[in-house]
Amino acid sequence: MARYIGPSCKLCRREGTKLFLKGSRCNSDKCAFERRPYIPGDHGSARGFKKRLSDYGVHLREKQKVRRIYGILEKQFRKYFKMAAKKSGITGENLLQFLETRLDNVLFRMGFAPSRKSSRQLIRHGHITVNKKKVNIPSFLVRPKDQIEIKKGSRQMPLIQEAIEASTEVSSYEWFEVEKDKFKGKILSIPTREQIQLDVDERLIVEYYSK
Ligand code: SF4
Repeated sequence: MARYIGPSCKLCRREGTKLFLKGSRCNSDKCAFERRPYIPGDHGSARGFKKRLSDYGVHLREKQKVRRIYGILEKQFRKYFKMAAKKSGITGENLLQFLETRLDNVLFRMGFAPSRKSSRQLIRHGHITVNKKKVNIPSFLVRPKDQIEIKKGSRQMPLIQEAIEASTEVSSYEWFEVEKDKFKGKILSIPTREQIQLDVDERLIVEYYSK
């Protein structure tokens, strides 16, 4: 599966906001966005983020922001949009639900990986099971009652241990439960829009693809 392999911090600077793509580094003074809060490139420092965006630009930037937060390439993101549009309900909410229930996101939200990128790595390398079966596809969509677990032989990995120690916000999610000491979690329901902690306007994305 193709994926973005360029520098993550550049993406935050391009979007003009912190996307939290690098785990604990994002909350430290090493954060590139804090140090250089302007668009990357030759004239970025002169422009800052003040450039007035066109209507199209506003829609495009919102779509890019969400796509980059979840680490998804355009082709796959468009596929999620088509799936969301076909499903009954509100398209924007459906889209976020698809993104949020990806296994890589769930593992990250549960606090077993410091970032979605690390989460994808753990999944691809076969450290994760869903309902006791190994799943090595980061885009796997979880469903209510699914049990996500770190394999026994992988639990002492420094990446996982450090992520567990650093994760303090996990209890604030209502749509899954986590037992950190048992290295597992369970999906309780598909998250509602209110339960998806993401400061974005998904209506702009729907409008972007509907033009
Ligand atoms: Fe973005 Fe994190 Fe890099 Fe800061 S450290 S620029 S929040 S990815």
